[in-house]
Amino acid sequence: AEELLHHSDKLSLAGQLAAGIAHEIRNPLTAIRGFLQLMKTEGVKPNYFEIVFSEFQRIELILAELLILAKPHETRMQRKDIVHLLRYIVTLMGSQALMSNVLIRFTSDLRTLYVLCDENQMKQVFINILKNAIDAMPDGGEARIEIQASEKEVQIVVIDHGCGIPPDKLMQIGQPFFTSKKQGTGLGMMMSFKIIENHGGSIHIESVVKQGTTVKVLLPIAC
Ligand code: ADP
Repeated sequence: AEELLHHSDKLSLAGQLAAGIAHEIRNPLTAIRGFLQLMKTEGVKPNYFEIVFSEFQRIELILAELLILAKPHETRMQRKDIVHLLRYIVTLMGSQALMSNVLIRFTSDLRTLYVLCDENQMKQVFINILKNAIDAMPDGGEARIEIQASEKEVQIVVIDHGCGIPPDKLMQIGQPFFTSKKQGTGLGMMMSFKIIENHGGSIHIESVVKQGTTVKVLLPIAC
């Protein structure tokens, strides 16, 4: 019975995904078609081009995120220093953060700590989480990353003092295409949940509206 349940779960997720993908790609396609039509009748105008380009970009972004999900066999597990990986991500996201007046602070008592992971997937998870933290603070602020280890598990916490998430929305995070952003895909957290689950870990989110959000990532430590 458990197997069966598992199977039907997967099917409904596939169905859910298919419907979401169709919807998410049809919207930009409709816009592209409309503006191509306009160019035909009214001639080319620069802002028409801009819209067509940005709608193309949106489709590319959605496909790029979905492709990572579609290729689990390309997962390459290696022993990696998660402290180093986090420092790298903080630097990577630093400039994007500064554009929104957000400062990312990373404090770690640990010099090194190894986890078994696919480096690219793990980077993607923390890029997603940090990007959400930055997006949650449009007027700037500070995002903090903390890392703590017990004997078997490491806990990485990303704290922001942004807009927060209302309880009914909190439950929907990680569902494909759930987004509150104009330019969002609603795929970032679904991917992050999936990736961390594949690594034997878990993600927990706590949030208070107008106070901020704490995202906790638990991962097994490699021996
Ligand atoms: P996207 O960023 O494209 O919207 P995600 O799956 O990464 O997709 O996030 C889904 C939604 O979860 C966001 O649109 C936002 O509403 C909410 N969310 C996630 N992280 C945070 C956060 N730190 N603060 C506030 N809202 C958040």
